[in-house]
Amino acid sequence: MTDLPRLIATEEAFAPREYIDAFLDLTKSVDTATSRYLAIYYRQAEAVRQLTDLDYRIAEMDAHGVDLHLIGITGPGVQAFDAARGTELATIANDTLAAAIGRHPTRFAGLAAVAPQDPAAAAREVDRALGSLGLNGVIINSHTHGEYLDDPKFWPIFEAAVARDAAVYLHPTFPSDAMIEPYSKYGMMGALWGFGADTSLHAVRMILGGVFDAFPTLKVVLGHLGEAIPFWLDRLDNRHANIVRRGGLGPLGMKQLAKSPSAYFRDNFWITTSGMMSDPPLRFCLDRCGDDRVLFAIDYPYEQTAEAVAFIRAAPLDRATMDRVTHANAEALFRIAPLALRRAAVQGV
Ligand code: MN
Repeated sequence: MTDLPRLIATEEAFAPREYIDAFLDLTKSVDTATSRYLAIYYRQAEAVRQLTDLDYRIAEMDAHGVDLHLIGITGPGVQAFDAARGTELATIANDTLAAAIGRHPTRFAGLAAVAPQDPAAAAREVDRALGSLGLNGVIINSHTHGEYLDDPKFWPIFEAAVARDAAVYLHPTFPSDAMIEPYSKYGMMGALWGFGADTSLHAVRMILGGVFDAFPTLKVVLGHLGEAIPFWLDRLDNRHANIVRRGGLGPLGMKQLAKSPSAYFRDNFWITTSGMMSDPPLRFCLDRCGDDRVLFAIDYPYEQTAEAVAFIRAAPLDRATMDRVTHANAEALFRIAPLALRRAAVQGV
């Protein structure tokens, strides 16, 4: 048993109790498909406990040999609110998470919530959370009231993240109010299809919008094996080049890019296995992105720990690749100290 690779899960959700209460309060005045969907979920006691009681998950981690959760605020998170309330809830979320990491320093690491509604405040929160709170990266739950991070007004957040060398986890949320209607039937607005559709749109907007020409060292993480983008890399390059060749830059509002779209994906993106528990897409993504770019994730509490762990333990990977995917890539990207060092720090040796 001692030879099993250490398991770090990198897209594990939580929510401070204040967020759940604020969201349920918001649903009294704001009636959208998203608020109706989540209000049902947030009234289920077990679901709320899994999100809000950060000590509760330790038993499930122990039962399945998960060594560490990299924890981030669940979607839509603080981005559901106005700028002032969102900023306040981000501070609460990050303080709550830092306290939990303090209680369980060998079991938890954390991603900082920020409210892009106030980009300057969000940039300051990145600095505080990565600085004095010691968190390990940033999480942004895709669009903010229908606005995407390719808009330069949000770029102070990237400036702060790059200054701290903090990876930004672009986590899914529901399609925006302007986009959600076609997703509103057949249960498609959530993880079944809408999450991935919105998050892949967001990442491609960032690439085509020149975010990575402005921030060449920015690190972005996508869950769900890259939200299908690895499958589209050749077509993105082919169609982008085709439009440029036909003089479409101006008419189609395109930006001149220094590199091909796929080159940014390979240079600036990391992907995790959250919610994807099948060998063929894992092997494909390792082939397309490289074994230093794929990280294990569960997506607690939305996915089953037992299923995700059984999948990765049995994945057809050589030991070096298995070690990278299960923990070494996460340790490097999120500056999570190897277990022995974390234990030693706790014991004061
Ligand atoms: Mn998730």
